[in-house]
Amino acid sequence: MAAEHAGLYGGIEAGGTKFVCCLGTGPDDLRAEVRFPTTTPEETLGRAVAFFRAAGAAGPASIGVACFGPVDLDPASATYGHITTTPKPGWAGTDVVGFLRSALDVPVGFDTDVNGAALGEARWGAGRGLDPFVYLTVGTGIGGGAIVNGAPLHGLVHPEMGHVRVRHDRGLDPFPGGCPFHGDCLEGLASGPAMAQRWGAPAQTLPAGHPAWELEASYLAELLAGLVCTLSPRRIVLGGGVMAGPGLFGMIRRRTRELLAGYVSSPAVTDRIDDYIVPPGLGGRSGRLGALALAQAAVTSAG
Ligand code: ZN
Repeated sequence: MAAEHAGLYGGIEAGGTKFVCCLGTGPDDLRAEVRFPTTTPEETLGRAVAFFRAAGAAGPASIGVACFGPVDLDPASATYGHITTTPKPGWAGTDVVGFLRSALDVPVGFDTDVNGAALGEARWGAGRGLDPFVYLTVGTGIGGGAIVNGAPLHGLVHPEMGHVRVRHDRGLDPFPGGCPFHGDCLEGLASGPAMAQRWGAPAQTLPAGHPAWELEASYLAELLAGLVCTLSPRRIVLGGGVMAGPGLFGMIRRRTRELLAGYVSSPAVTDRIDDYIVPPGLGGRSGRLGALALAQAAVTSAG
């Protein structure tokens, strides 16, 4: 059965609020796509399986999943491919890879949602030919993925860039932060829900010139300056709904350069920061295309 596939790959952008499944080989060749809300694991993963089965003989040679988490990425672990400690009801301990592998009988590539998006951008978007490369998303949460030597950076678990601590001047910003684990970590201070809580209005309704945006830029720039110093990325892409904020990119670039204070002397930072901190090259499609890239890598690694 696996030998009859049409050379296509299956991608699953598995988000905490919605799933997007696609079938194809890349951004210019997406044959089919479907999206549905994230409900229970059985129903949601079942709908993904039904989508790929419906392709029949043109079904995917492999599947890639860019998954919300935290997830277990250690191939030697008994819970590899599982979602681990998510607060999302019903999903903690879900064996995502096992479910898909047993239902579809194809290799399954698996990574975090942001590592997937980083891989998609590295393969086809704003990160092409740039290694190391970092992708950050700023929306319901804040997360980041790094591509190092061509592959998403893993490690002890996987990077949790949204949960770094940033300087928090409580005189300037008395909001205590909304992270259930850390309070005023970066995500607790600068995610979309944190902005809405602090200002009493959804982030997307805050107008240009509202102080929310300078404050937001100052928090995000702390992470970006830290990433420049730790991973030395050749470019940083910022995606996610909050990044549509008016003038936000310009403020983040300016503040990041201020924080680095001329110490990192690359012209990418000192002269060309407009081309260094940029939006996704794939628009809103980084995640699902990254899932396709994970599927391709799964075939290669399976021989
Ligand atoms: Zn946190």
